[in-house]
Amino acid sequence: MKIDTMHLITPYLSLNEEFYNLTKSDPLEEPYLISFNPEAAKLIDLDERSAEDPLLVSLLNGTFIPKGSAPFSMAYAGHQFGHYNPWLGDGRAINLGTLNGWNLQTKGSGETLYSRSADGRAAIRSSIREYLMSESMFHLGIATTRAVAIIGSKTKIIRNAVENAAVVMRMSSSWVRFGTFEYFYYNRQHDRLEELAEYVIAESFPHLEGDDDRLLKMFCEVVDKTALLIAQWQGIGFNHGVMNTDNMSIAGLTIDYGPFAMMDDFNFGYICNCSDKVGRYSYAEQPNVAYWNLTMLAKALSPIIPKDKMDKKLKEYGDFLYPNAYINVIRKKIGLSKSVENDAQLVEELIIALHDAFVDYTLFFRTLSHYTGNREALYDIAMDPVVIDKWLEMYDKRLLLEENTAEQRVKMMLQVNPKYVLKNHMLQEAIEEAEKGDFKKVEELLYIASHPYDELPEFEHFAGDTPEEYKNIGLSCSS
Ligand code: AMP
Ligand code: MG
Repeated sequence: MKIDTMHLITPYLSLNEEFYNLTKSDPLEEPYLISFNPEAAKLIDLDERSAEDPLLVSLLNGTFIPKGSAPFSMAYAGHQFGHYNPWLGDGRAINLGTLNGWNLQTKGSGETLYSRSADGRAAIRSSIREYLMSESMFHLGIATTRAVAIIGSKTKIIRNAVENAAVVMRMSSSWVRFGTFEYFYYNRQHDRLEELAEYVIAESFPHLEGDDDRLLKMFCEVVDKTALLIAQWQGIGFNHGVMNTDNMSIAGLTIDYGPFAMMDDFNFGYICNCSDKVGRYSYAEQPNVAYWNLTMLAKALSPIIPKDKMDKKLKEYGDFLYPNAYINVIRKKIGLSKSVENDAQLVEELIIALHDAFVDYTLFFRTLSHYTGNREALYDIAMDPVVIDKWLEMYDKRLLLEENTAEQRVKMMLQVNPKYVLKNHMLQEAIEEAEKGDFKKVEELLYIASHPYDELPEFEHFAGDTPEEYKNIGLSCSS
């Protein structure tokens, strides 16, 4: 399909007008294409050669509005760092409409009703980060929004310095946040809560439609999906950085990529967001804060779903849903095909060993994937090999209980332990080149993001330890 034949629908606009505000993009000056992602474009049946179509830039810049589109921004609220903010909403994202079940948004398109005092813009830096990282997460098997293309411009904005503005076209099966429910709960518009819940069921949980207990079941599925998502984030070494309730997806997706980071040397308490002084959103806290966010969602849903039933489900999150999901993720990473009683202890000891060893998280698991008895390679990558050695003693004993051969285990592990993840210094390199007008590195990282488990000899230099000066740095909120 060519861009000029795209035909969108706008189901969100069937909701009461309190849910959104019709709006218009404020186009960027002298826009140009930075990157186009044919794989995501395919999901909305867009021609693979759309990069050559001048309408692509116009589509992102809001100067071409596809058929059926009625651009709008969504209202929501949220708990930011524990404090309720009643007035958030899409301050810089504009929804174009829906195609093949994907809700298209341009992020950085200018002020909306929800911008408060901010400019509605996104810097080229943060846009490239979101564009690449969402694709990387998808290929790592983690539920996420996607991104189709990104444009840059001559429009100047002030962030850490004067920067150029960009727009990324992102897409999601749902843009509803925990904070969308909170908006109507705290505004005491409880009939709107029900309207939103029915919308969410139709959009994200269609198998529940017609079920008498669908509202409670929806909540339970959100809890299940969130537990799995956070376990997968922890497993891959991802720190989101801003887990406010407005950044929590009702569909259990990774959304709103900001000052995120992939772990370099493993540090359990790592805080990627440098404005998060107390570590509310540290790597270690993610499972707890997700639970807290779910309790805030339950509160918002309490006028329409029995509280005691939601509390029972919430208890399950801590009792077994999250712990089991996490152990299962790590079990796969260490190549265990069955569950044995002391696995939880083996996993706990591993986390302690990784923390104490000062070892690159991704590199450790990739190296362990080749382990068949010779420990040298693992010693070589750890600052303190003694703690790794101690854990390997336990691991060797545990492997004896497996029926899989070493060969089968290696094969399985190489499929779950990526060789390539997008670390911040890699993104930074691509951003610096892009800011100078060279987008080759963005394309390279898009390729790497799409092949996390492959051996890519030409990119071997990205598979090693992070250079010392870039390890586990903090990022600003405007990242
Ligand atoms: P975040 O935590 O980055 O997802 O954003 C929190 C809130 O601030 C959301 O309502 C955003 O839409 C809004 N926001 C962030 N940056 C801007 C900006 N430059 N202009 C307008 N609104 C913004
Ligand atoms: Mg957000």
